[in-house]
Amino acid sequence: MYFKQDSINVSSNNLKEHVLLKKLDISITLDVFDSVQTLPDTIQELMQSAKQARDRAYAPYSSFMVGSSIELANGVIVQGNNQENAAYPSGLCAERVAVFYAGATYPGVAIKNIAITVRSLHHKVLIPTPPCGSCRQALAEYEVNQDQPINVYFMGETGQVVRSNSVKDLLPLIFDSSFLK
Ligand SMILES: [Zn+2]
Repeated sequence: MYFKQDSINVSSNNLKEHVLLKKLDISITLDVFDSVQTLPDTIQELMQSAKQARDRAYAPYSSFMVGSSIELANGVIVQGNNQENAAYPSGLCAERVAVFYAGATYPGVAIKNIAITVRSLHHKVLIPTPPCGSCRQALAEYEVNQDQPINVYFMGETGQVVRSNSVKDLLPLIFDSSFLK
């Protein structure tokens, strides 16, 4: 491609247009626990439920099994796991399987906690594994609607557990329905 000389010269006027207005410093705080045993009994049970769901995951392609359990305000626990597909994008993550099931079965009931754990058939996962970006977006929709934060607990197969006290902390610059109005 041919560029005329005057199109690649940066003039002083152009520089003015790129003067930085300000920098936004966004920080989040996550709580880290040494193991699931150091968490309250109810959260231990929720993570145990997530492990059970994880081990039923349908993950023949990635061999990366994910389980997710959601505790609702009515005391019900809803499980999800990843459901893969030969047409890869047609599958769905554990977190969205669980939250969509919760939304479909108990609409309007608030979500209190979600526990997530993973297991790979190829290697031991010790690093706490957060939900992917799409799942954060999906979870954020419910948190915004219920107007109370959802605690997100995530871990690998064993080891440390990380807690985010809100989905918003995992998704700075959240996109929600307010932008559509
Ligand atoms: Zn996901």
